[in-house]
Parts: sequence; structure tokens; C-alpha cells
Amino acid sequence: MELSDLRQALPPDLPAFRAAQLYHAIYRDKATDLVQITTLPAKIRTELASTTEVGLPTLQTRYESTDGTRRYLLTLHDGRTVETVLMPEGDRDTVCISSQVGCPVDCKFCMTALMGLERSLTAGEIVGQVLYIARDNNLLQDTKRFNIVMMGMGEPLLNLPNVLKATRILTDPEGVGMSERRITLSTSGIIPKIEELGQAEVRPKLAISLNASTEEMRQELMPITRKWHLKDLMEACKAYPLRPWEKLTFEYVLLHGVNDTDADARRVVGLLGNLNCKVNLIALNPGPGIPYETPLPERVASFQAIIKRSIPCFIRRPRGLDIYAACGQLKRNLS
Ligand code: SAH
Ligand code: SF4
Repeated sequence: MELSDLRQALPPDLPAFRAAQLYHAIYRDKATDLVQITTLPAKIRTELASTTEVGLPTLQTRYESTDGTRRYLLTLHDGRTVETVLMPEGDRDTVCISSQVGCPVDCKFCMTALMGLERSLTAGEIVGQVLYIARDNNLLQDTKRFNIVMMGMGEPLLNLPNVLKATRILTDPEGVGMSERRITLSTSGIIPKIEELGQAEVRPKLAISLNASTEEMRQELMPITRKWHLKDLMEACKAYPLRPWEKLTFEYVLLHGVNDTDADARRVVGLLGNLNCKVNLIALNPGPGIPYETPLPERVASFQAIIKRSIPCFIRRPRGLDIYAACGQLKRNLS
């Protein structure tokens, strides 16, 4: 709930500052139970307890990787489970959160796709993942060393209202207090929703999963793109209202012998050359049911070298491969 929702949830005869107290207690002090919110009179707490629930998802399992990555399987109030990943790194920690239980987008290289979509998450469940992981790892004291990526399970742009609401809650200086610059959303390229995202006053940075250099290959790997064409996607990217400090990110999953040739790299440059952007290459993280192989490091390096001549280009190091926490590996109950 945002502050305006809390005002609605409280009895109308209460003064407005009670909603603000509740809001501060939940998002600033990270209270996880109404009982802890002692700034509110007991009577109000009892009344609230009959209609509302203050709480976080609960832990089903936590997997620890040898590289420090932690994958959390969290249980939601209806018993469904969702995955959240913490990637600690030198001077910053990144939390990768989910936006849906499963995913309706049927990308052929992604294990989450094998689950299909069970449901979208509420804004509370999206924020709840961040607060849970922050609490478990003592993270939110310094919001400047903390990044959020909406790159877990699900397609965030198919749950845009809740993703935006969660972003407003996470960035509100009265509450969690993160900077918008530290939150990034990744999409498979739902074109009308990219336009809608661009109109939002408070919004995460935008990353787009390109994953192929031609329309044909993209349609083969990401069937949803039969509807959302590459040419139109590039138009939407050109028209996207970047903020002064912002660049677009393009992600490209490299599949051995499929989309990883030098010619592909040159076509990527051709597609993106005129955009204010950077490229993140991800060598395929393999998994059961995924019919592709990981390219050799030399191939990845050669692909990067071609792009780098024109566009900043990085290789995303896989995190938590041994616990199925890396990109495209989130599919609960595998251990
Ligand atoms: N649904 C969103 C965000 C989650 S996926 C999206 O697709 O953008 C996050 C990133 O992981 C995407 O760039 C996706 O292309 C990549 N990915 C999916 N499966 C992968 C795999 N098996 N290996 C490496 N990257 C993968
Ligand atoms: Fe969904 Fe992203 Fe996986 Fe595609 S890559 S199936 S959009 S989570």
C-alpha cells in the first residue's frame, strides 16, 4: 500500500497522521507485524488486524552458492512460491526480484518459461521480496550500495501497474528511500508497455532482452516477438524518453551456434548503433529442458570485441550457477 491506500484502509474518523505513522513503521522501520507498531494505539491495531495484514513473504528455502549468491524461495500468502536472488559484490549488493509467479512469455532458452504463468504479483509482494532480503542480510541501512533488478521470474511489463506501484513505494523518500537510478527492469519487449513505462513519472531504468540480430531468429527464440516486431521495438527504443542520466541496456543471451557469430554481432551494432545504450552479453546458463549450449569463452570475447568498437559492451558474469540462481534458471523446487 502507498500512503493514499493506507489512508483509505484506516477508519475515516482517525486523523491523517495515523496513516503516515503506519507508513513509516512499515517502510522506514521495516515492521513486519502490526504488534511491533507501537506508535499506533492498541485499539487501532486491533481494528486493523481484523481487515489487514502487515507482513512479508515467508522463507521456504534458502540456497547458498559458493560465490556468495543466495537464492530465496519465498512463500506468498496463497501458498505460491517465488524466487528472489541476492548477489553480493564488493561495494554493492544487487537483489534480483520477481514480478510474476512463472512467466507467460515462452522464451526457448529460459527455465522460467517452462512453468508458464501462475499469476502476477501484487505491489506488496514485489516490495516484500526486497524487504525480506534486506532484513535477512542487513542491507537497507545504506541505500546507496544497494541495487534492484527486476529480472527474476516473470515479464514485468505484463504486470506494469503493480511494478510501477512497487517502484513508487521503493523510491519514496518517506519510506524505503531508494533512488530510481538503482532500480532496473528488464523486458522481453512488450512494445505498447514500453511506451506506457516511458510516461510514468517514477520508473525504473529500462533493459531490453534483444537476444537475436534478425527478426527470424528472434521469433524462433522468443515466440512472443511474432506479435512485437524487432523493427517496431527499435522505433519504440528511439522514441523512449530517457532521463538525462539514463542509457538503455540491451541484453543478449549467446547460444552456441545459434545467434553467436561475428555476423550477428555486426548486425547488433547495425540495430543499436544510433541509440544511447550499452549491451550486456550473457552466455547461456544451461539447465534441464533447455535445448541449447553455452558458447566457448573465446566466441563470447570475439562477439564482445566487435560490439565494443561502437557500443559499450559487457559480459554478465553468471552468479549462483551451482544453485540454479543465474539468469534464466529460476524455476522453483530445483535444487
Ligand atoms: N522477463 C524479463 C526479465 C527476466 S529474464 C526478460 O526476459 O527480460 C532476465 C534476463 O535473463 C533476460 O535478458 C533473458 O534474456 C535472460 N535469460 C533467460 N534465460 C537465460 C538463460 N538460460 N541463460 C542466460 N540468460 C537467460
Ligand atoms: Fe519470461 Fe524473461 Fe524467461 Fe522470457 S526470458 S520466459 S520473458 S522470464
